[in-house]
Amino acid sequence: MPKPMTTATLTIDLTAIAANWRALDKLTDCETAAVIKADAYGLGVAKVGPALAAAGARLFFVAAAEEGTLLRRALGPGPGICVFSGHMPGDADMIRAANLTPLINSVDQLLCHVEALPGHPFGIQLDTGMNRLGMEPAEWSAVRDIAIAQKPVMIMSHLACADAPDHLMNQMQLDNFNDMTEGIDIPRSLSATGGILLGDKYHFDLTRPGVGLYGGLPYIDATPVVSLDVPVIQFRDVAAGESVGYANAFVAKSPTRVATVAAGYADGLIRAMGAQATFTHEGHKLPVIGRVSMDMITVDVSSLPDVPEHLQLIGTHQSVDTVAGFADTIGYEILTSLGARYDRIYLT
Ligand SMILES: *Cc1c(COP(=O)(O)O)cnc(C)c1O
Repeated sequence: MPKPMTTATLTIDLTAIAANWRALDKLTDCETAAVIKADAYGLGVAKVGPALAAAGARLFFVAAAEEGTLLRRALGPGPGICVFSGHMPGDADMIRAANLTPLINSVDQLLCHVEALPGHPFGIQLDTGMNRLGMEPAEWSAVRDIAIAQKPVMIMSHLACADAPDHLMNQMQLDNFNDMTEGIDIPRSLSATGGILLGDKYHFDLTRPGVGLYGGLPYIDATPVVSLDVPVIQFRDVAAGESVGYANAFVAKSPTRVATVAAGYADGLIRAMGAQATFTHEGHKLPVIGRVSMDMITVDVSSLPDVPEHLQLIGTHQSVDTVAGFADTIGYEILTSLGARYDRIYLT
């Protein structure tokens, strides 16, 4: 149980992250990397990186060179670290010092890279239809031979609709990727978590799961990774007709015991989730009542014989994705918003 204090406790199960990596790895015959951008989806790259390396991951992906530098410090010299934003102006020193592999997304970046860091490893990023990052077919065919002569370590692209298995976009992007890489003998990567689940044709030589490692959808079989326990600061008994919180959003229909817990929208518990979310304690479901405040949430604990020190918001009764659904968003957004104020406990 979390120790008593006035900030909430985010418990992150590193053994579950390792188990999810191994399980996703087993779904393919190719190499499995780990995407660890945005501070390992908010869970802490300094802990998550070494845990994944210990599980067997040899290649990592981050969004920016700065993230790569932090990850290199956590991992030491062995594993590969690829950077999705490629080689941006001013990145050369960081790329060299931390031995990062930029994923080049344009002819400009390619020229910049081979000029600033000749012989330094890089990968190629292709746009197969998402129109976000990477070289488009015309640009690629113009520089393809020159780029290949420089021996990129991989060629990758990214799927826009992989969480919707029946979406026609998946097959279209797969066809484009096959066309654009035909006859090239360099390792290829197309799939993140969603693409792994689409089947063999999407696996190529390397997959790049992120959210599935952290227990999120679309990896429905994931082992849960995070739980969030929030301390009760105060409780009171409210009579029928009394209101609770901002804008009197809740009015008691009958006598209600209200616990005020110490976390709010400044901790990533966004206001929109409020109306449907529940806390739990020893199997009791405890509705959130009234508005979510910046640092506090009010909870109906009338069904409990005693008010405990903590109530749980995220855990086995209610996943990150469920909470996200209440707020009409996705688990990725809730995970990466979980605040800096939490006391973090890592289970190893
Ligand atoms: C974020 C990202 C991933 C990982 O995606 P998940 O859906 O979290 O598995 C893989 N590749 C690219 C290019 C990404 O931006």
